[in-house]
Amino acid sequence: MRSEEAKSLLKKNWGIDGQISSLPSERDINFKISGKANYVLKIYPKVDSTLKIRLNLQNKVLKFLEEKKINTSPFVVPTKSKKLLINPSKGSIARLLTFHDGAAWGNKSEHSGEEIEQLGRLIATVDKNLNQLKISKEERKSLNAPFIWNMLQAESLLSWSSKISDSNSRKIVEATLSNFRKNILPRLKKMPMQVIHNDGNDYNIIENDEKLVLIDFGDMIYAPKIVGAAVAAAYVGLKSDDPVKQISQFIRGYHSVYPLSLEEISILIELVKVRLASSVANAALQRGVNPDNDYLSISQNDVPKCLEAIDKFDSNFALFRLRNAIGLEANPNSKPVRDYLLSIKPANLLEKSFSDLKQVYINWSFDNPEIPRSTQAIEDLMAKTGAEVTIGYYCENRNVYQGEAFNPAAASARTFHLGVDVGMPAGTPIYAPLDGVIEIFNNNSTHLDYGPVVILRHKTDKGVPFWTLYGHLSIDSMPDWKIGKEIKAGGLIGRMGKEEENVGWPPHTHFQLLTDLCGMGIDIYGVAPKDEIALWRGISLNPNLVLGIESGTDAHAKISPASIRSDRRVVISQNLSLNFKNPINIVSGSGAYLFDEKGKSYLDLVNNVAHVGHSHPRVVAAAASQMSLLNTNTRYLHQSIVEYGKAITSSMPDPLSVIFFVNSGSEANDLAIRLARAHTKSKGVVALRHGYHGHTQAVVEISPYKFLGKGGQGAPAHVAVAELPDLFRGKYTGKGATEKYLSNLKKSISSLKQPISAFFAESIVSTAGQIVLPPGYLSAAYKMVRAAGGLCVSDEVQIGMGRVGEKFWGFELHDVVPDIVTLGKPLGNGHPLAAVVTTPEVADSFNNGMEYFNTFGGNPVSAAIGQAVLEVVYDQRLQLNAKNMGKYLRDGVSSLAKDHSIIADVRGSGLFIGVEMMLDKKTPATNEVAELMEFALNKGVLLSCDGPDNNVLKIKPPLIITKSDVDHLLNVFSDWLGKK
Ligand code: PMP
Repeated sequence: MRSEEAKSLLKKNWGIDGQISSLPSERDINFKISGKANYVLKIYPKVDSTLKIRLNLQNKVLKFLEEKKINTSPFVVPTKSKKLLINPSKGSIARLLTFHDGAAWGNKSEHSGEEIEQLGRLIATVDKNLNQLKISKEERKSLNAPFIWNMLQAESLLSWSSKISDSNSRKIVEATLSNFRKNILPRLKKMPMQVIHNDGNDYNIIENDEKLVLIDFGDMIYAPKIVGAAVAAAYVGLKSDDPVKQISQFIRGYHSVYPLSLEEISILIELVKVRLASSVANAALQRGVNPDNDYLSISQNDVPKCLEAIDKFDSNFALFRLRNAIGLEANPNSKPVRDYLLSIKPANLLEKSFSDLKQVYINWSFDNPEIPRSTQAIEDLMAKTGAEVTIGYYCENRNVYQGEAFNPAAASARTFHLGVDVGMPAGTPIYAPLDGVIEIFNNNSTHLDYGPVVILRHKTDKGVPFWTLYGHLSIDSMPDWKIGKEIKAGGLIGRMGKEEENVGWPPHTHFQLLTDLCGMGIDIYGVAPKDEIALWRGISLNPNLVLGIESGTDAHAKISPASIRSDRRVVISQNLSLNFKNPINIVSGSGAYLFDEKGKSYLDLVNNVAHVGHSHPRVVAAAASQMSLLNTNTRYLHQSIVEYGKAITSSMPDPLSVIFFVNSGSEANDLAIRLARAHTKSKGVVALRHGYHGHTQAVVEISPYKFLGKGGQGAPAHVAVAELPDLFRGKYTGKGATEKYLSNLKKSISSLKQPISAFFAESIVSTAGQIVLPPGYLSAAYKMVRAAGGLCVSDEVQIGMGRVGEKFWGFELHDVVPDIVTLGKPLGNGHPLAAVVTTPEVADSFNNGMEYFNTFGGNPVSAAIGQAVLEVVYDQRLQLNAKNMGKYLRDGVSSLAKDHSIIADVRGSGLFIGVEMMLDKKTPATNEVAELMEFALNKGVLLSCDGPDNNVLKIKPPLIITKSDVDHLLNVFSDWLGKK
């Protein structure tokens, strides 16, 4: 079809004009239409019934993904008469798709690990959603039709692989496809199957700002899920010297969204090779048929090169990278090796055991400005300290390596030391700690390499192999080395070399424990790339498993925030969220401030756990002092638990006099449920809408914030929800609203299918958006609950201990005395300490013969910390500071509100403040609040938000904040408002 025909087709059916140009394509005829919006007109000249089904299915998929708001493109544009497909002539079909602007992934020569992971997440998200798509038998059949890009049919490519002109390429393609047919396909066929996109190639990914979009659903097939991952993975390393590294980064992203099994991972590299081999074979065939089609050759410069690089790559090392990518320890042999070494006592490396030698650690890290690098400097250090041996750390980030491979500025710079260095005078003999056989040795004589180095091979009692490496030995050690020579534990290996012979290092032995040589032989990394530390920790284990230096050898050098974030995606469950678009890496805290790894400070207005300020010296001292003296449990007499317990109960009104110590707010509320059940002999609970009481099963069941929120299953049978008495934007507002909320509570109590045991409420409902209960509500509610036979529980986990300023406990704002009070966050200033306070009567009902024992609750260290925190609150008059600073802050925000209607309500008490932001009476300013939080972050102020619409700023800083801290916040707030 010519452009003019396409143009008139477009006008007639879609009513669209625009500039028209033809686009390259492998199979169809494509035109780009540029105008107010851009489109692609696709013409399929020869359509059979299968293609027709496929095209309809594509439309269905695009619609399905569009509705789910997945980053895919295009969208199908209906004709004026609402058709998605039309027949321009008999046997041909046309459809119009939106065109996504942006550059193709393949146009950029380099991508960061984070970007590659992002791509993995995109492909996984698409395929995970496609797995939920219902398809008919007929559609499924169309997805299984003969198709050169269906990997399940890849063996058929062997019939024309002879057309590949480059003989090396041809050999690799044929070997890959034969291996696939014989060994991989039978395994692949047993793996979970679904509809997959099947074409995440580097020109089907469009980069737009920070967003990635997947386009082109023309190659969808029904195949094992791992094929979808492998197809996209095949293209991510095309331009790299180390494609397997990038494939692993991609797989990490994929797995973090759509988990892959070990079985799937273990054939992935072969599948990647099959895809690349298919690409090489297809290009050879197509080039024969159609030598002028540029599109066919787009990636053909890189593909054979990449296939060759992957083919050559050590298969164990590739698997280690993939295992690490999905969160497993890199080498599966590491665990048996570690287990074995922990069950034996190796012989001494030196003449004496380390415990008989006075040691000094040497610090060669970037943190040390005065590295003792020369032989003389080390000798001086030993003389000064009286040390007989120096120890250099494992996993230290070292500032001593030079040369191209060690360029410390690069993300993948090799600076993390994998051995332990043992330093003594030149000539010191080194002995084998374990029976072994010399596997390989050499004189690595390049400046700053190892000099004479030898690797011994060992095995565990179960036959699992592992290796030890000894670097920087003397030249005269070498004549005794022979490959295959056995050395018994305690046998001499060699002697430490002099600086001249060990190529520039003070005399020492680099001792390394390896679970694999990763195909690198004697050049196995002794220093790991700093962006692959988790990987190398799982291959080159801490040598101290053999050495047995009691004071330890692991430096745990800091890894980059990018690596922490990436490792976190697979090691920590994904439903633990992170704050901010670019999460920050906090390494220290002091007072009301937190500091990231670069030393940038952040005023912390979020953390009501650091009640008396981060790292408060009195709290730290109390913890350290008690920890160094004793920590046990409540089964022994100990003064501090009684003294501290009494101090807490004394801060509450009578008759609240019995305390239980637990470890978290959730545990406190969980115990409160048990106490209430024991006392009332019933189970019903009423909780306030949007309220949260913790994360254990029992307390999620009484937390409407969770059971009515995302992923929630609705209220359990024993729980009723009472409307939140929010006079600003709740169900009832205005005159008489409080009474309406009370009658709603009454209804909730009577709606319970079993009698009420407890009513749970905070006095300022935090997760609901800092909602201050209206005057009179709580006292009337307590009366009502008690009349129905229930107990009243005040959840003080967020707001207790002076935070609300006017009073010491939140419930005291309402002039009520609860039956049970639960305490948490502030008590331990970050140490896991929480408590339940109740009356002797309720405690007695609970004491029914079943022992209450809590391993950690009420231990002497926790009690000492709790006591210190409480005393700081008293001694520094922090309740008063909360009252004054809270008022100053609220007044400041209220005065900003005069000129900025987006600030709709300023509420709270003391330093527990909510600022509700609205665009108008009905529209919560959700996006604006998120924007403000990011803005404040950049200005060094941490804020959080909550409420059902996430439009309430929550301000709940450590109680020690000063006027200038508040001014800082007000300035930032005002700057942001000024920019609006
Ligand atoms: N109750 C309330 C009111 C809370 O806000 C929280 C925690 N945010 C909890 C209980 C649970 O405390 P924890 O996370 O210590 O288990």
